[in-house]
Amino acid sequence: MQVRFDQAADRLGLDPNLFGILRSCEREITISIPVVMDDGSVSVFEGYRVQHSTARGPAKGGIRFAKNVNRDEVRALAAWMTWKCAVVNVPFGGGKGGVVCDPFKMSRAELERLTRRYVAGIMDLLGPDRDVPAPDMGTDGQIMSWIMDTYSMHSKGYTPAIVTGKPIGLGGSLGRIEATGRGVMLCTREALKHLDMDATKCTAAIQGAGNVGLISALQLATLGVKIVAISDVHGGLYNAKGLDLEGIREFLMRNRKLEGFDGGDRISNAEILELPVDILVPAATENVITSRNVGNIQARIITEGANGPCTANADKILDEKGVFVIPDILANAGGVTVSYFEWVQDRIGLFWPQKEVEERMEHIMVDAFAAVVDMARKWEVSNRIAAYMLGVNRVAEITRMRGIYA
Ligand code: GLU
Repeated sequence: MQVRFDQAADRLGLDPNLFGILRSCEREITISIPVVMDDGSVSVFEGYRVQHSTARGPAKGGIRFAKNVNRDEVRALAAWMTWKCAVVNVPFGGGKGGVVCDPFKMSRAELERLTRRYVAGIMDLLGPDRDVPAPDMGTDGQIMSWIMDTYSMHSKGYTPAIVTGKPIGLGGSLGRIEATGRGVMLCTREALKHLDMDATKCTAAIQGAGNVGLISALQLATLGVKIVAISDVHGGLYNAKGLDLEGIREFLMRNRKLEGFDGGDRISNAEILELPVDILVPAATENVITSRNVGNIQARIITEGANGPCTANADKILDEKGVFVIPDILANAGGVTVSYFEWVQDRIGLFWPQKEVEERMEHIMVDAFAAVVDMARKWEVSNRIAAYMLGVNRVAEITRMRGIYA
């Protein structure tokens, strides 16, 4: 994050005082979270909430429950949220949370106790005008419901706008679940137009079969793109004739993993990145395309469904190879865009039909895509640096206007 930020700041000729402010996180908290486990023992988990910036609005960003999450990672993810919200021009800053745990090994009751105690521990930072969490890796609508309930119990009032990604009925927005995958599709569609490529003649490989990966696959298929590979943490499936995505969706609902689905050859998570496809969607986790494997990438377009799937070292080589990269802070911004709509709807107490959500989101994504590509052309920089320049400049302008409170 910082390498790219430095490059964007340099091209923008960013005022050194603003550079110092925007490069660091505004506020962060680390807490110990004791949880009574189902067997009666107590486990202590470490949790974080980082607010990178609240210059343009309340901090916004997901909460990650993962075994290997750490504070530095959460800081980078928080800053990415700041630039992402600025790129799509929604009135939020950036934040992120994390708890070091293995959600797949915990019972629902343990997860509920962990979530509620974590929220109680970071309570002072949260609020609809302060910091609004959302789902991320390892968290879902149920966890968002517990967050909303815990906060509402403490604030002694129904406060749905404290968190987004909630189920419909609890203040969730129609279209939120599909939003990130739909944004991936919309950006890819715009890229295909820009490159004058025919979607119906393209193939795609998707790394990740969670909320982002699976829905990106289903959405890309609506354009006529043939999805030839998809993977989850245990590995992937490849079928040059195209995968049965509906079958995979049903299989995943029942089995929670791809293994055992018989409609393609098993491949590894490393192999899926190097397939001879037109479109590659890394939609799992960070740092999967590195200087070590970037030479083997064959895709013409990379749409970053995940946050940070390419390392800064890989960027340079992708540029040299002429790969059209749709950077994470643009490609996966559909999620936070509909989170913004959810927050607005919760605050006005009026809920929009799915069509309205989808149309508003499409406008935002298409405009943001055009702004990034335009910036890249004018400044002769990569799409990634263009997206950073757009985002950083918007945050810098607001920071300058607000001045430094002393
Ligand atoms: N976790 C998602 C992201 O990284 C969504 C954040 C949000 O909706 O606030 O963009």
